[in-house]
Amino acid sequence: MLREPTSVDSRASLPIGRYLTLGDLCSCTSTYQRFAQEIQPFPLAPESLDALEQLAAAILDPILGHFGRERFQLTYGFCSHDLRRHLERRNPETGKPFGRICPEVDQHMARELGARSGKPVCAHGGAAVDFRIRDLSSRDLVSWMLERALPFDSLYYYGPDRPVHVSHGPSHRRAVWAFNESNTPTTRGIEDWVRRARELKPR
Ligand SMILES: [Zn+2]
Repeated sequence: MLREPTSVDSRASLPIGRYLTLGDLCSCTSTYQRFAQEIQPFPLAPESLDALEQLAAAILDPILGHFGRERFQLTYGFCSHDLRRHLERRNPETGKPFGRICPEVDQHMARELGARSGKPVCAHGGAAVDFRIRDLSSRDLVSWMLERALPFDSLYYYGPDRPVHVSHGPSHRRAVWAFNESNTPTTRGIEDWVRRARELKPR
C-alpha cells in the first residue's frame, strides 16, 4: 500500500493527550532549538508514541487540567537519537555537554531501539518529561502529585526553583529521588515523599 510520507509539520501537530502535541514534547529543549536544522526530533519506534500517550493520559493531562497550559513550562520531553547526540556533545562555550542526560535509565528516549543493538535504549520502558509550573515551587508541585496519587514511575526533584523529572511506565516503581549539588541521588530530606510514594505502589 502506498502511503504519503508524513511531513514534519503533520507529525509536530499530532495531539499527545488533551493539551500537548508531539511537537511540544520533541522540540522544547534549548539544544533542539539551537541545532534544529541538524536534528530529527521525532520517535522512530511506534511504541515510543504509545508510551508518550500513556504518560500524557496518566500524568500530564491531570497536571495541565489543574494548573493550566499557560503555567506549564516543559523543559525536556522526548529525546530522539539525533537530539541525544547533540546533548552529549561538549558545548565549546562551557566545556560541558549540552545536556546532563542518562538515556539508559532516564526514560526520555521512551521505547526507541539502539541503532546497533536493536534493543531498547532504556530498559525501564515508558516515557519521561521535565517541567515546572510557573509561580509554583517544585516542592509544592511534588506534594500535589503525591496528593493526587498520580501513577508515576520515577520522580526526580532538583530543588524548589528547578523543573521536576517525572516518568510513567510499566514498572510503576513510584520511586522518588532528590539530587544534590553534585548530582548524586539521595532520599535524605524527602523521607516523607518516599513513604507517601510507596503507599501509592500497586499491590
Ligand atoms: Zn528528565
